[in-house]
Amino acid sequence: MNMSRLLVILLLAALVATFFLFDLDSQLTLDALKQHQADIAGFKADNPWLLAGVFFVFYVLVTALSLPGAAIMTLAAGALFGLWQGFVLVSFASSLGATLAFLVSRFLLRESVQRRFGDKLKAINAGVARDGAFYLFSLRLVPVFPFFLINILMGLTPIKTVTYYWVSQLGMVAGTLVFVNAGTQLAAIDSLSGILSPGLLLSFVLLGIFPFIARALVRLIQRRRVYRNWTRPRHYDRNLIVIGAGAAGLVSSYIAAAVKAKVTLVEAHKMGGDCLNTGCVPSKALIRSAKLAHQIKHADHYGLEAGTPNFSFKAVMARIHDVIRKIEPHDSIERYTNLGVEVLTGYGKLIDPWTVEIALNDGSTQRLTARSIIIAAGARPLVPELPGLDQVGYLTSDTLWDEFAQRDQPPRRLLVLGGGPIGCELAQSFARLGSEVIQAELGDRLMAREDSDVSQLVESVLTKDGVRVLTGHKALRFERRDGRKLMIAEHRGNEVEVEFDDLLLALGRSARLQGYGLEQLGIQTQRTVQTNDYLETLYPNIYAAGDVAGPYQFTHTAAHMAWYATVNALFGHLKRFRVDYSVIPWATFVAPEVARVGLNEQEAEEQGIAVEVTRYGLDDLDRAIADGTDAGFIKVLTVPGKDKILGVTIVGEHAGDLLAEYVLAMKQGLGLNKILGTIHIYPTLAEANKYAAGEWKRAHAPERLLSWVGRYHDWRRGSRGAHAEHPNAKTREEVSR
Ligand SMILES: Cc1cc2nc3c(=O)[nH]c(=O)nc-3n(C[C@H](O)[C@H](O)[C@H](O)COP(=O)(O)OP(=O)(O)OC[C@H]3O[C@@H](n4cnc5c(N)ncnc54)[C@H](O)[C@@H]3O)c2cc1C
Repeated sequence: MNMSRLLVILLLAALVATFFLFDLDSQLTLDALKQHQADIAGFKADNPWLLAGVFFVFYVLVTALSLPGAAIMTLAAGALFGLWQGFVLVSFASSLGATLAFLVSRFLLRESVQRRFGDKLKAINAGVARDGAFYLFSLRLVPVFPFFLINILMGLTPIKTVTYYWVSQLGMVAGTLVFVNAGTQLAAIDSLSGILSPGLLLSFVLLGIFPFIARALVRLIQRRRVYRNWTRPRHYDRNLIVIGAGAAGLVSSYIAAAVKAKVTLVEAHKMGGDCLNTGCVPSKALIRSAKLAHQIKHADHYGLEAGTPNFSFKAVMARIHDVIRKIEPHDSIERYTNLGVEVLTGYGKLIDPWTVEIALNDGSTQRLTARSIIIAAGARPLVPELPGLDQVGYLTSDTLWDEFAQRDQPPRRLLVLGGGPIGCELAQSFARLGSEVIQAELGDRLMAREDSDVSQLVESVLTKDGVRVLTGHKALRFERRDGRKLMIAEHRGNEVEVEFDDLLLALGRSARLQGYGLEQLGIQTQRTVQTNDYLETLYPNIYAAGDVAGPYQFTHTAAHMAWYATVNALFGHLKRFRVDYSVIPWATFVAPEVARVGLNEQEAEEQGIAVEVTRYGLDDLDRAIADGTDAGFIKVLTVPGKDKILGVTIVGEHAGDLLAEYVLAMKQGLGLNKILGTIHIYPTLAEANKYAAGEWKRAHAPERLLSWVGRYHDWRRGSRGAHAEHPNAKTREEVSR
């Protein structure tokens, strides 16, 4: 505890002790007040300002220290100063005192409470940040909620102090008036509870819910106001129109058809979107071929003869297109038509909040109206505005697959610009297929979203596979010089040149925001389409899901968002669902894979969340050793002293699959003890999850109790000597139980 906190605690303790030492609590009762009323009134006649001043300061102290007696003092204000003067005194003193109590709680408790329960409080914090003033106002309006408790609890939340003050002042007006007014008739009051009759209490409760009703009305008016320049169709052609047939669009239309809505899915290019055609599927197919080439090259690790993989690059690329073709039927027009979705191939454009115009691929156009629309237009590779880029030519994940399909050989010297997941996956794959790969990254490490130990491991395996990793390199321009292609980059203040034959841009993906009517409708965009928690855009009947809306850019998150967008679009008038991003997993399919769910160490630190870190190295795992895939680790972040999982990072073979157990555990609120108590097949990679839980358990073994148990066993053997540590005290069985 730091010095200033200690001093504040000592000061508060001294003030509270003084209060009780002088027996002031027994003076702040109804009887005592009645008894001394005449004396105090006499004092007031001679010293009206002095009494008002002393009363004010004392009131502030009592409320700031959360001491009992504020209600009696409020009555006293009425009895001594009359309704209006008493009201003014109490109103300001109580708000000031409440704010001081709030600040004390914030200063002394907030940091530790947020650190300890930060993850549990996330939803409350978000709610308070959004609607804190509303909640406080309602609580203040109903004077039955304990005054001091509100101050202490609100101090733990992120509400602003100024907001706290003025909302308290305003919210307590009615209650203060009632109590001060009652005080003016002090003689007639027998008990505090008598002041609030059931009728009066009901009025307060009604007052308390009034802000919520008012807010709902304001929202309704706002929701309607955005439509005022548009003419709503009398009836609609469809319940739902979905723009884009990638993961988000396919899942949206699937759900809509499953619940018997009339739905049209519009796709301008290829069914399946980026994932099937240019993203996950081709990249994973490439990774598989690259892995095999790597295994052939390193066959001696398995006792076989190492060889040079002989292959036709064209055949590798042809296989990739075969894989796409095999998966295509899952996303095909035929399948979706059979499911009850109307699929139109053409470019969709929003004309008004209910109308989509489709420029069909056959040259005709069609206009359709729908009660709701989901924008699922996805994202495209980011192309920076760098001089000379067009001169040297470049590839992106959009163009790479068709471009390379024509080539007999893999690129000789490939420069991959970007050190994120896509850049790393592709850089490693092409290096394994024999290209000389240079990977340039602006930051000081690869995969910067992950912890630095992950980045280090990825960099070392990429380097081992032959990738020349250039971190801290900022591309400035590109040049073609004497037939050579060059990147000029800044590195530690100097300009350096990097020569290449092919350039692959992997700098991230930007949401598709132009050309289909967002601008005309005034739908806000800021790198992505802006939505609220229900995935509604500015127009409550237009939703956005998937890469176009972020904040994650994965196929599974696109599908996840699609559920919320569709259910809200079709049934939001009955019940709306807030999109839940609490447990989002992802993986980068470098070798070894990197998979994560929840927090990692750097995020926990940034967010000030205290965590306990448990690490299990795969070099201990029998199956990983047998497979020759023992590079990697599992890192589990838990609440200190508890088995509640806050986040897991796995680096290792099949990390993406292994992570599923932790994703389930986090989603269903299962802790490490539950994973430890579950049978895992031997010898599998999945056992690593159990052993990681075992590491955690071992760190929390009840040492004192165990030493007594040891003594008990000594006694059972008839041994009188002190308990000696069992030589095999740390066997795997003990770790795992
Ligand atoms: C190389 C690479 C590897 C990847 N690997 C993975 C991975 O391993 N795992 C993972 O989860 N994610 C991966 N991703 C990300 C994944 O592909 C995307 O997150 C996912 O495709 C997003 O789906 P979506 O539906 O939002 O958008 P998209 O798949 O982009 O679909 C949007 C569709 O909308 C269409 N469209 C756009 N505008 C209009 C319009 N006006 N009218 C009609 N149609 C329109 C487009 O033609 C497109 O088909 C990878 C991406 C890349 C590039």
